[in-house]
Amino acid sequence: MGRSELQENIIELKGIGEKTGKLFNKIGVVTLGDLLYYFPRGYDLFDAPKRACDLKENIICACKLTIIGSVTRRHVRNLSIVAFEAADETGRVKMTFFNAPYLVNSIKSGSTYIFRGVVRKKGNFFSMDHPKMYKVEEYAPLIGSLQPRYPLTKGLSNNTVMKAAQKAFINVGKLEEFMPKEICDRLDLIGFSEALHSIHFPKNAEDLENARRRLAYNEFLVFVLKLRLLKQNSEEIRNNYPMIEVADTTRLIEQLPYKLTGAQLRAWDDIKRDLGGGFVMNRLIQGDVGSGKTVLALLALITTAANGYQGALMAPTEVLAAQHYESFKNLIRKYNITSLKIALLTGALSVKDKKEVQRQIAEGEVNCIIGTNALIQEKVTYKNLALVITDEQHRFGVRQRGTFAEKGEKTHVLAMSATPIPRTLAIILYGDLSISVVDELPGGRKPIKNCVVGTNYRPTAYKFIADQVAGGSQVYVICPMIEEGELDGVENVVSYTQMLKATLPESVNVEMLHGKMKPAQKDAIMEAFARKDIDVLVSTTVIEVGINVPNATVMMIENSERFGLSQLHQLRGRVGRGDKQSYCIFINSSDDEDAAKRLDIMNRSNDGFVIAEEDLKQRGPGDLFGVRQSGELCFKVGDIYHDSDLVKESAMDADRILSEDPEMNLPQHTVLKELISTKSANFVDFTTL
Ligand code: ADP
Ligand code: MG
Repeated sequence: MGRSELQENIIELKGIGEKTGKLFNKIGVVTLGDLLYYFPRGYDLFDAPKRACDLKENIICACKLTIIGSVTRRHVRNLSIVAFEAADETGRVKMTFFNAPYLVNSIKSGSTYIFRGVVRKKGNFFSMDHPKMYKVEEYAPLIGSLQPRYPLTKGLSNNTVMKAAQKAFINVGKLEEFMPKEICDRLDLIGFSEALHSIHFPKNAEDLENARRRLAYNEFLVFVLKLRLLKQNSEEIRNNYPMIEVADTTRLIEQLPYKLTGAQLRAWDDIKRDLGGGFVMNRLIQGDVGSGKTVLALLALITTAANGYQGALMAPTEVLAAQHYESFKNLIRKYNITSLKIALLTGALSVKDKKEVQRQIAEGEVNCIIGTNALIQEKVTYKNLALVITDEQHRFGVRQRGTFAEKGEKTHVLAMSATPIPRTLAIILYGDLSISVVDELPGGRKPIKNCVVGTNYRPTAYKFIADQVAGGSQVYVICPMIEEGELDGVENVVSYTQMLKATLPESVNVEMLHGKMKPAQKDAIMEAFARKDIDVLVSTTVIEVGINVPNATVMMIENSERFGLSQLHQLRGRVGRGDKQSYCIFINSSDDEDAAKRLDIMNRSNDGFVIAEEDLKQRGPGDLFGVRQSGELCFKVGDIYHDSDLVKESAMDADRILSEDPEMNLPQHTVLKELISTKSANFVDFTTL
């Protein structure tokens, strides 16, 4: 057991000085425990060598070749270039090395090596720049093995992290097993210590999958146990704020320009029943993008205010919080909802304004508070908070939801989420909440028309955009980056905006939005877009969640191959919110087959559930670390879709453990209990073991 070693600072490791230590700190690694829990984001597979004729462009390949002809050395400016050709009976490959003059003497025509590197094609020729060269007998034992690829920061090399991890394992020694033996046997899980080692240094793909399964199970079991304990704590808490239905909500429902869908009405009934019932509300509203969750939040807030209490709504971004605030203010004015006294609290406010809003909250001058996580800061005290609502709950952690609720005394909790998870899993993963599903899109919506196209389609897209704008509609264009130079071949908002301004007709007003802009500037842009003063908004993913401008009908996503499918689905959800026909243009800038296949899923379906499922089917075991969910269901290695069987098992095991040992005091549960009580940001934390 290496408990104390896990707490050791990484600069205690041989070869890691203060400077490297600082780089590690930058990626969040301070102790050896952090390092062991700093997982690779992918692996390089040492494939069996291919024949020259079987090489594939743009991927890493190994190839057994014999050097032919002479090894040349030349100089271009101050760069020395060594080049030669190598071949087998099926073809030739050009090899180029920069600034490696020593090679000239060490390699000879006629010798055979395994060359491993990224393959490029120049004209009819395959080439490799800086391939790694292995003697044939050196490469043989590597075949089938996987080398970790870590997320890095500037100045920190993959090799440094790898070496450090190897040393850390030696220093820490074997870690104690904490999973009950019965569980490991039944589910065929490998030991904890072994799993942790193999996730860094898998011997082969099977070894990696075994490690991943074991660690995923850790996460799920701890997660579910935490939820169960939360639920025990909150179950059957008396309703401290019993509410009655108020006239303002009935009137609003009647006067809205649309009729609530059946699913919205059912969810609203659930909420009303909870608020008026004997026990405190803990409810999740689950509904796909555009299903109309916001109005449910508003109805609950009105009920709370009219019953004499405060309610608060927390959104994951400032842009979204500001939008909710503005749209609620408009509705209050339009429908004369006098019971609501609304305030906005975000980090974007000036110190003076913040103080003033905090005072209004503390003294009860406002009863409907909209904001970001500024709402849960220590300085904020509420007069009589009875309801907390988290919008886009999947962007928050369970813990943040808890902290929010603790701002009041046993408050009602309403969480809203668009994460498409099957009900069986939702019941487990949101185990402390009752669930209402809004599984119906408002009537009159036309399905969004999609297309996945290459960059050569851009001129056509711009023409289409100009036509749509001429017809009175608005457009979003998404770029992954903010400014030039962040990454090659990736579009950025700043340059793109300039380019579009020059390309589109002068009458089209193009503006940009991104996270580096000042909050006030962001708000101004968003408001102008909502007012239709801006026709085309070029933006980063800051508009990914929640933004609602029903007049926008085109979403164009540059470098869509770089986004996860659920993210693309959320982005696309910004259009198709009104009764006009909407369009989504996915620009695919890569020639990768898998990217094309993945994007085709977006092309074929507008349904979040279908997309999640198809995404899963297409992912191979090697991609598992590629696509991450964010927020509360973000496990380090577990994937709720791929590992749904394990999620279900973990729920059963958690129930059994708690029924046998409700306080988890038995010796075999000690470590598990400790894990459950650690207060980590991401809810599941093994680094303290
Ligand atoms: P989400 O579930 O993604 O949060 P919103 O609440 O933002 O969706 O609603 C999307 C749009 O649909 C908004 O413009 C909203 O006013 C509108 N809307 C909500 N409910 C209905 C309905 N029953 N019929 C027509 N439009 C609706
Ligand atoms: Mg929403």
